[in-house]
Amino acid sequence: MKTVYLDHCATTPLHPDVLKAMLPFLRDSFGNPSSIHAPGRKAKEAIEEARGRVAALIGANASEIVFTSGGTEANNLAIQGIARARKDCGNHIITSSIEHHAVLKTCQYLERNGFTVTCLPVDHHGIVNPEDVKKALTDKTILVSVMHANNEVGTIEPIDEIGRIVTERGITFHTDAVQSAGKLPLNVKEMSVDLLSISAHKFYGPKGIGALYIREGIRIDPILYGGEQEKGVRSGTENVASIVGFGTACELANKAVPVLGDKIRKLRDSLQERISTAVPGLTINGHPVSRLPNCLSVSIPGIMGETILRDLDARGIAVSSGSACTSHSVEISHVLSAMGLTKETAQGTVRMSLGIMNTPDEIEYAAASFVEVVEKLKTLSEIENSLGSRRCY
Ligand SMILES: *Cc1c(COP(=O)(O)O)cnc(C)c1O
Repeated sequence: MKTVYLDHCATTPLHPDVLKAMLPFLRDSFGNPSSIHAPGRKAKEAIEEARGRVAALIGANASEIVFTSGGTEANNLAIQGIARARKDCGNHIITSSIEHHAVLKTCQYLERNGFTVTCLPVDHHGIVNPEDVKKALTDKTILVSVMHANNEVGTIEPIDEIGRIVTERGITFHTDAVQSAGKLPLNVKEMSVDLLSISAHKFYGPKGIGALYIREGIRIDPILYGGEQEKGVRSGTENVASIVGFGTACELANKAVPVLGDKIRKLRDSLQERISTAVPGLTINGHPVSRLPNCLSVSIPGIMGETILRDLDARGIAVSSGSACTSHSVEISHVLSAMGLTKETAQGTVRMSLGIMNTPDEIEYAAASFVEVVEKLKTLSEIENSLGSRRCY
């Protein structure tokens, strides 16, 4: 069976060059980077070279990069780290209602522990209004965290404007750039951002490795204590092989972002065009223009996104849905609800996210299969309706 992977917002395959760069550090070069002997020094050098490459992807200085176990830890470190370091200056945090759970649940945890959290709304396209950020700031605000690009619908937030408003007031601004890194050009020197999270496995690097950019001069408390690695901000023996792979992934992305972005956008647009003309009632989620080039989230009210997912999976096509259908209830994505989608529309949501390895043939196969699957499910759902029973299609 043909297989077409269209879930690159969830994770990506490892680039062959990344694997090649990692292998020596899983075999012979096993030294602990904290050791003073030659094997230790070799590991240390490899880490510092990778740090330079990660920094180069986002225009940072190498000294501003702290390696973490991924995007989740980077977000936790940014938010908990600032909350702990600044708790004497204030207890108010601002975020948005469409953040990844690694941000939202961290904020909710802090809310249970003496902090006040303002969760800003978004418009129908999933955009946070910078004016809302401005209005929400108080003299107790210590941190604002708004993501760069959303993982479910691909909407790109106006973080330059938000960052200016926040940092002008001397307040720390964090952005979760896990979805944009490696896909959009990023330069922290030109952005008003103090903290920025990235994760390797979203752009052809290994899973379980990421980084937090911490602007020079921003003080942050650790959340892990121990051997004082990463200048004491993130203790624990470094994941050397993954860090090396992360560095290579950043170097590849740095070269590829401008070229591949256009290629993927064209494929995405052709997929969007094909299915939206063939399926009546289909709507596109996210901002029409300010959107990740590889992301396509669509809704078909009346059909279950999860059923489409399963039927496409049976044809070798991997996508994701905006809700999970359990036996008694349907869990709706917090992002789609915040954007004002009705329950029925949110349930009928499917996300297709493309990657650098996808070909026009694959996209053609995926589009044709999508249309077939939806037509079949629509017919089934009409039969069910006419029989007066309602099932989970
Ligand atoms: C995937 C993702 C994360 C989590 O990153 P991990 O490395 O998987 O922990 C955080 N934020 C966004 C926007 C993501 O897409």
